[in-house]
Amino acid sequence: MIENRIYNFAAGPSMLPEPVLLKARDQLLNYEGSGMSVMEMSHRSKVYDDIITQCQAELRKVMNIPDDYDVLFLQGGASGMFAAIPLNIAPNSTADYVISGNFANNAYKEAKKYLKDIRVAASTEAENYVRIPRQDELVLNPDADYVHVCFNNTIFGTTYHYIPDTGKVPLVADMSSSILSEPVDVSKFGMIYAGVQKNMAPAGFAVVIVRHDLIGHKSPLCPKIWDFALQVEKNSMINTPPTYPIYICKLVLEWIMETGGLEAMKKRNEEKAALLYDYLDSTDFYKATADKADRSLMNVTFRTGDNDLDAKFVKESIAHGFSNLKGHRLVGGMRASIYNAMPKEGVEALIDFMKDFEKNNG
Ligand SMILES: *Cc1c(COP(=O)(O)O)cnc(C)c1O
Repeated sequence: MIENRIYNFAAGPSMLPEPVLLKARDQLLNYEGSGMSVMEMSHRSKVYDDIITQCQAELRKVMNIPDDYDVLFLQGGASGMFAAIPLNIAPNSTADYVISGNFANNAYKEAKKYLKDIRVAASTEAENYVRIPRQDELVLNPDADYVHVCFNNTIFGTTYHYIPDTGKVPLVADMSSSILSEPVDVSKFGMIYAGVQKNMAPAGFAVVIVRHDLIGHKSPLCPKIWDFALQVEKNSMINTPPTYPIYICKLVLEWIMETGGLEAMKKRNEEKAALLYDYLDSTDFYKATADKADRSLMNVTFRTGDNDLDAKFVKESIAHGFSNLKGHRLVGGMRASIYNAMPKEGVEALIDFMKDFEKNNG
């Protein structure tokens, strides 16, 4: 870690890899001899066209995206896509939603505005989303246009360790908080999307990876800038794209390739998460809040069982140079988001602090 930087456990926006920040610093005032910052460039210039094209190509390489999928960079974040999805890929105005957390529910509520027949395939709301619905719990409509899932539940700290089988119905996954954390078989999905501010780039856009045959059937209500087919045609540049975040995204993807790709990333992420979960399981002082079988590698939620003690933990953690360990209000307690850019040393330092806090308060 560079001096004066701290371990930031924020759920998003969150840490970016230091090599990426350093490279951006080096290129800040004069990008590759262009005489200007990427921030100052016309999105219609040749030099910027190369950046966005390379970013897309790099994502295809890193995620091994098959050729029959389109890759788009769209504004409005993941929440914008909650509306854009039903407006683009529901020609029969019907879809199934699996409700595994707050964002899954927000996606459902937004889509409900646009669809004639929207159904809940399963929900774990009654258990305050401590787990992911199992395959055998899914009640699927074979005539649905798609099935929507939230793959990693950022707030609750749960994730799918299986890919739901939806038969011939395309599976659509919000991967905002787990994209690029491990390899995924893109061909198992009709569409994958993510707000970039957790694991890809600074806030400013959503990545959409969509099977080509699913697009081109948009609702007449669909805003032009979210028309997937038109954006494919215009290389995500119907209007001015978020030029700087897309450039940083390119640097992040290059960093992933340079550090061994997604297999190596997965190994590092499993190691980091295991350190934290093994410690949580070894003590009675803290309790992990998510069901063991469905634990997220990215967002680790835990509590002491005493709200005052949780508040004290958060306060003291800040004094010790950690930030953003307070849990989301819907869960309480603490949450450590340990995305790709969080070094193993950050997790080890957190565990040392947790042990001391336990000693002093247990
Ligand atoms: C953060 C997050 C969102 C919301 O993303 P925005 O880009 O802020 O709209 C949606 N889904 C999941 C899973 C998230 O983690």
